[in-house]
Amino acid sequence: MREYLSSRIFKTISEVADLEGVEVYVIGGFVRDIFLNRPSKDIDIVVVGSGVEFAKAVANRLRSKRLTLFKNFGTAQLKHNEWDIEFVGARKESYRLDSRKPIVEDGTLEDDQKRRDFTINALALSLNAKNYGELLDPFGGIKDLKNGIIRTPLDPATTFSDDPLRMLRAIRFATQLNFNIEPETFKAIGQMSNRITIVSTERIMDEVNKMMLAPSPSRGWLLLDECGLLPYVLPELTAMKGVETRNGIAHKDNFYHTLEVLDNLAAKSDSLWLRWAALLHDIGKPRTKKFIPGQGWTFHGHEFLGAKMIPEIFRKLKLPLNEKMKFVQKMVLLHLRPIILSQDIVTDSAVRRLLFDAGDDIDDLMALCEADITSKNDYTVRKHLANFRIVRKKLKEIEEKDAIRNFQPPVTGEMIMETFNLSPCKEVGIIKNRIKDAILDGEIRNDFNQAYGLMLKTGEELGFVPVKLHPNYKPAS
Ligand code: ATP
Ligand code: MG
Repeated sequence: MREYLSSRIFKTISEVADLEGVEVYVIGGFVRDIFLNRPSKDIDIVVVGSGVEFAKAVANRLRSKRLTLFKNFGTAQLKHNEWDIEFVGARKESYRLDSRKPIVEDGTLEDDQKRRDFTINALALSLNAKNYGELLDPFGGIKDLKNGIIRTPLDPATTFSDDPLRMLRAIRFATQLNFNIEPETFKAIGQMSNRITIVSTERIMDEVNKMMLAPSPSRGWLLLDECGLLPYVLPELTAMKGVETRNGIAHKDNFYHTLEVLDNLAAKSDSLWLRWAALLHDIGKPRTKKFIPGQGWTFHGHEFLGAKMIPEIFRKLKLPLNEKMKFVQKMVLLHLRPIILSQDIVTDSAVRRLLFDAGDDIDDLMALCEADITSKNDYTVRKHLANFRIVRKKLKEIEEKDAIRNFQPPVTGEMIMETFNLSPCKEVGIIKNRIKDAILDGEIRNDFNQAYGLMLKTGEELGFVPVKLHPNYKPAS
């Protein structure tokens, strides 16, 4: 263990501890991550005494000015080189029913370990010279780490009732580390799930986003569903569950399908927002579901409705309402386009339109669509993947030829107005659209001269007379 504590910073903390005559420990996630071989730069230090006073002494010794005190919380944060160190006095916590905010008293190391969420997060290493590096593990955290178990140090019902956020942390750690939640602990989450309502959405979403970034995020969503937390977190996803059968025809369970898509995508991309797009790509399905005799189950327009639902979902979840949301919305809206394309003969003009609509997000969209192939039929999967390869090849060819990805109209509105001596009016838009469509449909190249020629023709059809030609225009003779 000692080699992990060989950094200068631990030596300094140790020296100050003995000078000040206080017991000091490194505790929690940092210690857990040593054993998991995931070295981390966030250090939590517990002092049996005043965390703030001790932090000041350490900062003094390091001649550091990067110390922030949170006197109300009795904590201090010190940034030193690459380290981010939190100091806190060992404390004993007791809770009331209506709040996550505990009543706090000074306590021993063991009191402090008892208030930790899980046995694997309650490990401490001593930093005093007399027992430097000694492990203090009163709840069998090391054993649980070895066996891959998430377990609360005390009675789980009390632990979760005290701070219901811990229920989500349990699921997040199980997902991140691919651990199992100990059965009594999991049962308690089921019994306490409604207590999650006292936790702020922001805190919940911090955990959910960490879960989403795990190698197989589906595990977290399955656990949330199993313990009854899912309807509190994302009821729209609960609505995707279930299979209906009519006239002997069943549709697939969209919840499990979605989770498969999410994991497929997670295997290819670490992008949080692309992962969110995978989770939400079919979110419009429950509300568009129809059984049409002769056709079977349909979900017509679920991509449009789904895209419309995104801002409201993001607002409720306190996710950013900026270009991240727009990106997810765009992915949801366009997620069927490459599939439709690949089922038909892939025409240049359909490819240009897809490139125009997806822009720089085309590669993400293709990744999402490939992840969306969850058929169990090998032949079908291979056929789809082969078609997508054709689409990708075409996308590349057309992009090289026509540069549609970052489409800028070769003829601007100002040029149109100047040529025909117009003020802004709807005809300017009509002419611009006509040019855009002609380029996307391949009638003309994405080139100024051809576009300007078409502008003159369209303008004249609308009854306008050119009064001044653009100097760069070279009419075809
Ligand atoms: P990571 O930083 O990888 O997300 P972590 O376990 O370090 O995981 P932090 O939020 O940094 O999580 O918390 C540091 C430590 O504080 C935890 O290891 C745990 O001991 C304790 N802790 C954090 N949140 C809670 C909580 N809600 N209830 C009890 N203890 C907690
Ligand atoms: Mg941490």
